[in-house]
Amino acid sequence: MAPVSGVCAKGNMLTHKEALQKILSQAQPLAPKRVLLRESLGLVLSEDIVAPEPFPSFNNSAVDGYAVSGISQKVNQKQIKFKVTGEIRAGECFKGSLKSGHAVRIFTGAPVPNRTQAVAMQEYVERANGHVSLLKELAPHENIRFCGEDVRIGKTLLKKNSAITPSHLALLAALGCHKILVTPVPKVSILATGSELIKIGEPLRPGKIRDSNTILLEALVKQAGGIPLCLPNVGDSPAKIRFLIREGLKQDVLLISGGVSVGKYDFVKEILREEGVKEIFWKVDIKPGKPLFFGKKNRTLVFGLPGNPVSVFVTFEEFAKPALLKLMGKKNFDGQMVQGSLAKPFMNGPRFHFVRVQCVQKRGGFAITPLKGQGSHMVGSLASANALLRVKANASLKKNTMVSVKLLDGGKW
Ligand code: AMP
Ligand code: MG
Repeated sequence: MAPVSGVCAKGNMLTHKEALQKILSQAQPLAPKRVLLRESLGLVLSEDIVAPEPFPSFNNSAVDGYAVSGISQKVNQKQIKFKVTGEIRAGECFKGSLKSGHAVRIFTGAPVPNRTQAVAMQEYVERANGHVSLLKELAPHENIRFCGEDVRIGKTLLKKNSAITPSHLALLAALGCHKILVTPVPKVSILATGSELIKIGEPLRPGKIRDSNTILLEALVKQAGGIPLCLPNVGDSPAKIRFLIREGLKQDVLLISGGVSVGKYDFVKEILREEGVKEIFWKVDIKPGKPLFFGKKNRTLVFGLPGNPVSVFVTFEEFAKPALLKLMGKKNFDGQMVQGSLAKPFMNGPRFHFVRVQCVQKRGGFAITPLKGQGSHMVGSLASANALLRVKANASLKKNTMVSVKLLDGGKW
């Protein structure tokens, strides 16, 4: 039999690093697409954006008050009276220029008339008989927001590869950049296999368990920024699994939970092969998640995640999520790492282990406590964990060892 691609020296299993490398080399950013600004939050820019206009786009008033002309720094300003000749509301324009000795009532954001020297705040003028006089010194240009003082026309506003934040949206909106070129988000099909599964709203029946992987993967995909598309559960029926795999292969990524191990009813790998999915690897030297499958058909990345919920969680976090991020054009796949000291010793077994831990901020730094239940079926301990600790095979970590952990969900403090 021809050797399976991705086989390494250690048995037929890849290390987690080798597996991740193979995944990332297959995942290439999706083709750029022009999208509406309001649909671009968090997406990665595929172009530099240059200011098409200055900001502010016209000289305008920073305050409610009076635009004046004819102030002098040499004479006592309090003695100058300005004749009020009109009013300009925000959104309107003043016809003509302001004459020396004249003032115009003006409101914040309204364009200042030509030849305005400064705007006096209404709190610092006295108005009587159609005139205003200044109660406080007024410097030239005071309270005028000048055209282009914030952003010059032609300035690079955002560089290619920046991820769009809410404040970027405000800037681009202010400058009229209505549509922008970004790397789009991947569409991710989710298929849970297993004849033991029932829907979460159904009462338990003997031998059945509720499908917690579909909702878990749906949430993880959303959290990573992808668009999840959940396929119905069809048990372990090969014909139905095949039909849904064909559906799933129409998207950028297909995530399948369960059915990728060595059991008699684990049909997924075989069906994938028959459907033209090229196996890149099967099995990684990790705990949990050893029977992880990764393959590709055309541009669709296919992950077969071992069915235990913790295996699904860990293999998504460590392998599928970096792939999604790369498809979205992101460059950092490491997640948020934090250093802390181990609050309890930890003895590892013979496999590289993603250990569920609780990471708590104490006065002297972070305290990291490995959770008691590390079984891959234990959703209870998964929900109590706020970080994952990577431990090498056979390592024996003493209490107070400094370790680095990956925070989950921003740490769930
Ligand atoms: P498998 O990978 O299909 O051998 O499944 C491994 C274990 O995960 C079994 O105990 C399954 O019952 C469980 N499992 C599989 N799929 C799900 C699911 N969608 N939700 C919860 N547990 C599951
Ligand atoms: Mg199964």
